[in-house]
Amino acid sequence: MSGRSWRLLDILENTSRFFASKGLENARLQAELLLAAVLGVKRLDLYLQFERPLHSSEVDRYREYVRQRLQRVPVQYITGVAAFRQLELTVTPAVLIPRPETEVLVDVALELLPESGRVLDLCCGSGAVALSLAQEAAAAEVVAADVSAAALEVAKANGQRCGLAERVEWHCGDLFAPFCGTEPFDLIAANPPYVRHDDLAQLAPEVRDYEPHLALDGGEDGLAYYRRIAQEAADFIRPGGYLLLEVGDGQGAAVEDLLAQSERLTEVQIRPDLNKIPRVVVARAATQTS
Ligand code: GLN
Repeated sequence: MSGRSWRLLDILENTSRFFASKGLENARLQAELLLAAVLGVKRLDLYLQFERPLHSSEVDRYREYVRQRLQRVPVQYITGVAAFRQLELTVTPAVLIPRPETEVLVDVALELLPESGRVLDLCCGSGAVALSLAQEAAAAEVVAADVSAAALEVAKANGQRCGLAERVEWHCGDLFAPFCGTEPFDLIAANPPYVRHDDLAQLAPEVRDYEPHLALDGGEDGLAYYRRIAQEAADFIRPGGYLLLEVGDGQGAAVEDLLAQSERLTEVQIRPDLNKIPRVVVARAATQTS
């Protein structure tokens, strides 16, 4: 990219060829997302202004974004935003970038949560799940928690950004610690860290080098948090209420077993994601028998 003046379409084509030559996937899409962010327009609106000449300050900013992307910084950290369901969320390296699979966790929660139910998003990160529930289940009482104070700052800012600040109660603490002695939940949903510790080094550089390991590292076998949640969750769910856990590829059966081992959880089942991969393990808190 030289100092000459650029037409929008030319810089896009040039950059997507460049990204592709460096082995980046979805090269054209990524070039478009970064340019749309520089110009402050929606990606599809780029198509209405292909002839637009770019100002040198826009080109400079775009070059900086392209440089970061070549360092494998995820597009969402470069632009500072990520799309999740109907929301546009702020993301920083303090939070995991919300994944499309996690939208299924929200679908299942919306299906099982009573209309004005009390719901907890455990390990809330950017607040994607809690804020979607607040938006899409208008009468729900939404609570969210994360162990990372830095993540909670981002989540709270997202509450403001989405006009949902009053709808979610945020807590900082280790799993259920903030909820000892509080009213039980009708439903708890969590996307806990689930990557096997030794697999972290093999993740894509975008994830391995930039996303928070605190949100990824699931211990030696990737199941450390599921084990704790399986033991503790029933104390915080009203009898008959639900526990929903997102799982990584291939973890469904193991997490199903963990939950089935708990005498206080019942009706364990697995829901698939849009690619038909088992993604959300569901269990109910047993109604007291003794
Ligand atoms: N889905 C994330 C990944 O692809 C992991 C998220 C998690 O650990 N909960 O790495």
